[in-house]
Amino acid sequence: MPASMGNAIHNSFEEICKTEISQELAIGTGWFEKIVKSTLDKHWENERDLFMEAPRHPRWKSELYQKALDGLAGSLKILFEKTIGEIMELSKVEASDWAETQSYILANEATLTSNCDKLMGRLDLLISIKRSGKPEEWIVADLKTGKPPVTQLSPKVSRQLRFYRDILKENEPDHPVVTAEGWYSANQTIHTAEGPSVIEEALEAWERMTPTQEPLLATPTQEACSFCEWKSWCPSWWVAKMDGEIPQGGMFTDEVVNLVRLDPESGAALFQRAPPSGKNGELSQSSHRFGAILKDGALEQMKKIMDYIGDDPIFLGSARVSGKVLHLGDWSEILSWSPLLGSVSK
Ligand code: SF4
Repeated sequence: MPASMGNAIHNSFEEICKTEISQELAIGTGWFEKIVKSTLDKHWENERDLFMEAPRHPRWKSELYQKALDGLAGSLKILFEKTIGEIMELSKVEASDWAETQSYILANEATLTSNCDKLMGRLDLLISIKRSGKPEEWIVADLKTGKPPVTQLSPKVSRQLRFYRDILKENEPDHPVVTAEGWYSANQTIHTAEGPSVIEEALEAWERMTPTQEPLLATPTQEACSFCEWKSWCPSWWVAKMDGEIPQGGMFTDEVVNLVRLDPESGAALFQRAPPSGKNGELSQSSHRFGAILKDGALEQMKKIMDYIGDDPIFLGSARVSGKVLHLGDWSEILSWSPLLGSVSK
């Protein structure tokens, strides 16, 4: 849901920045506010459709619409503040204000590619500011719809922003001063990313991504594996979990199991845990059995794989724990357990 909300804000911001204001649009009071709202409405609906089409999704929180609208308004207010000066209410924006603001925009949702073609990034906004008596400045801005930093940018965000800054500087040798900023829509704060170039490190990372026949050494941790989407192909997290290196417990869990029985009508299932034997994905048997309630997409998926899985093991991902019973629904994964131990490419 946060990603959908962020997309709705980003896409609306991009579209509004590209909107040419005709005489017919800029009529009456509040015309800009109306454009902002109708643009967000459109993207909000698009995001909701995509969200609902996703095989695994929780509830769509329509109550977050107002937060998205406030976030979009906040982003636009930062843009005004940076270009023509502070605007307290979007309803007061005049056509000439918007035309002047747009004249500062050099690029909006643009792809930056390094000269060597190895590095690429998508910048949200590039504006050129030229104030009287001061040299021109380019601001590469990234809209942030998440939680604003308390004091300074996290190292990850700082690196991301400096990456845009540094590719831009490399591509445009005659650039003026370039500043990279994170614009946080939630509280309308601006955080500047400062520090040395990150290009060399980015190229080193690129080199390390060269595909290999053997997989990279797995380094399972709770933090890394919790949201990893490779678990049904990776034997290492299951070994780490059974060895206690990844702690058990919590609101959601993952399991590798054999299906003992399923009532396709009620979705009541009985599973038997299949603990690892060795490190390469082989499994053994256990007497540990537990019940689960499957519904919606999880029940459909289980019925589908039952046709061909036979006695083979199954990976259950993101099962909600409630006492001794697991609950699986649209948010869960049910896949065949298929450890992948080497490259499948010839
Ligand atoms: S599940 Fe496997 S691939 Fe994914 S983060 Fe954990 S160790 Fe790495």
